[in-house]
Order: sequence, then C-alpha cells, then structure tokens
Amino acid sequence: MDNNYYRLNYLLNRFQWENYVEGKENDLNSICNEMYINIENMDLNRYLIRDKIEKNPRVSILKNKIDDYWSRCIANKCDKNLIAQNLHDDVIKLINIREEVSKEIGFSSYKTAIMKSEELNISFVKKYLNSFIEHNIDKVKNLINKYNIKWNSWFKDLNLINCKFCENINSEYIIFKFAKLLGMEEALKYIKVETNNNFYFATKVGSDDIRICISNIKTLDDYRTLCHELGHAFLYYYSSIENEKNYFKITPCVDEVIAVIFENIGIEILCSAKEKEKLRDIISIEYTRTALSALLEFEILQNPNNAEELFIKYYSMLGIDINNANLWCLDSFRSIDSMYIYSYTLGQIVADQYLKMILNINENYIELGQALKSLCMKASKESYKKLFNMS
Ligand SMILES: [Zn+2]
Repeated sequence: MDNNYYRLNYLLNRFQWENYVEGKENDLNSICNEMYINIENMDLNRYLIRDKIEKNPRVSILKNKIDDYWSRCIANKCDKNLIAQNLHDDVIKLINIREEVSKEIGFSSYKTAIMKSEELNISFVKKYLNSFIEHNIDKVKNLINKYNIKWNSWFKDLNLINCKFCENINSEYIIFKFAKLLGMEEALKYIKVETNNNFYFATKVGSDDIRICISNIKTLDDYRTLCHELGHAFLYYYSSIENEKNYFKITPCVDEVIAVIFENIGIEILCSAKEKEKLRDIISIEYTRTALSALLEFEILQNPNNAEELFIKYYSMLGIDINNANLWCLDSFRSIDSMYIYSYTLGQIVADQYLKMILNINENYIELGQALKSLCMKASKESYKKLFNMS
C-alpha cells in the first residue's frame, strides 16, 4: 500500500464525517474509485480483501447511494417503513454484487472472503454467537418483559432504562475522568468530540485528527455509547503510536471488539452500583440482539429472497412480536457495514478478560490502562483469535 492509498483513506473518512455530521454532500464515489485503481493490481493480502470488494465501483456506487439516502432520511427523521420500501431493491442488488465480486477475486463467497480478512471462519463465529445466545436468552427474555421493550421501539425503549444520575451529565468531564483513571490523558489532545443526536461513530481523518460523534448524555445508553466511541478513539491513537500506518491495518472486527471492551471498562470504573446493574442489563439485551442479527445475516447472504421470513425466525427468539419484517433491509445498517455485526458480541465475550483484572487492582486503574494500551498497540498486528487466545 502506498502513501496515496493512506491519504485517500483519510480523505474518505473526512468526507464521510462531513456528510453525516455537517450535512454536506461530498461525492464519495470518486475517492472510492481512486482507491480502487490504487489497489486493483496489488497482490491480495488479508488487509486488502475488504477494500478490493467494497471499493470496486460496482459495489461502492450502490453502497454510497444507499448510504446517502439512508443518512439524509435519518437526519430528516423519515418514516422507517418508507425508507425500507425505497431501499429494498438496492439492498438485494448489493448483496448479490458483493457475492459476485468476492467470487471474481477468488473466494467461494462474500462470507468466506470477509472471514479470511479477519483470520476467522464461520463455524468459529457461529459457535461463540450460539453459546452467547444460549447463556443469555432466558435472562434477556425476562429483561425485555421487565422493561417492556417492544420491537418497533427497541432503541427508544432501551433509552428509557435509566437512572436519575444520568441527567445533566457533562460529557467532557466524563471523557477526562475516564482517560485520567486509565492514564490515557495524552490521547485526548488528538480527539475531537462532536455532539449530534442522529449519528454515533468514531473516525480518524488525519494523522493527529481523531473524531467522535456522540449525543448529549441524557440516558445510561447514551453514556454507554460515549464510552464505546471513546474506546475506538483510544484504539486509533495508541495503535498508531509506533507507526502511523498501523491505523489502516485495524480490521473492522478487532476495531469493534476493542470498543466494546472499553465500553465495559467505562461502565465498571465510572458508574455507581445501581447504574452498573442497569447497564449490564442493557448490554445483555443488546449483545444478544447483535448475535441474533449476525446469524440472521449469515443466512440472508445465502438466501436474500427469504430475508423477511428469516428476520421473523431469528428475532422471534427474543420472545417478542415481530410485525415489521419489511424493515430487514435497514437492520443493523448491514447494507453499509456488511459482515460486521457479529463483532459486537465477540467483543462482549472477551470483555470479561479485562473486567476480571479490575477485581484485583483496588481501584488503581493505571495498570489496567497499561494492559489496554498494549492491546491497542497489538491490534493492527494480530487477529481477534490471537489477541484474545481464542480457539
Ligand atoms: Zn463501534
């Protein structure tokens, strides 16, 4: 990969950020195309697989079209059924094109290509997702009942699981406290925080320019998101300390897994017992949903024409009525971030390895911070399996 490719990556991140956060209408197609030309004739290594598929103009043009439409709709708070109706055909088309392009570059399927890029395989991922679901499903069904969570208003209802403490929380103070406890204040110089109630994400748009977008903190779940996005930002900072280019070798799975670990740590070291209890409930509910969503995705990729049926089959396992199967094509943003949702649950599965450290350190979290820093520094060099000794 040459310097031009890295420059284009940052530029794409910057344009994407401006489109989401600042409502700009930057054309992403020309950058994607330039990136594709850059890597088209390079030998395939695992870090290039995703881009060889995603930056192929047949994929990127359609994906950017869906992304532009979707983000405009979110900003304007359009009706979800209408968005789903308008996106349905393009989402099916995108699934099929990703499949075709994966075969063209030598893989048996899109799934196999992405698994290879993460040094994972489907049976490994399914084994862990299924065991997470098995362990949690009964508890989660009870929690869904207890908090009266409905499928139609899932995220809104999760936001209602709340504590008084969360009102008027100052996110700047929380960010500072989190970083200080872990001995990571140095990273904050490079992290810019933007508030926006529609989009939550983290990105890096230049060598010393890391950005996170979060909402005003009003609920426990907002708080959880803040810790999560900050986790991405810490990863982007520490991974690049030795070599700037390491950032470009953080694969989407490892990126998400580490953010989930920070999310758990943030909850554990900053929250009261009562807040923690409720946040643990939210985490169990959400990461069971992401596990189901991932299993659903694996099947949809094989059988996109049965997506509605599969949507009902998987989410009914939560013990609730699923009455809007047409929304499958918006589910987990998978047209935009395909083969990715499984990473959240894989993150939760290894978060315990770090939470256990807290039990032995008597509220001196600097050592934990050191362990997290070294995890971030290794993140661009190792796969999920190797980083967390999973087999
Ligand atoms: Zn994330």
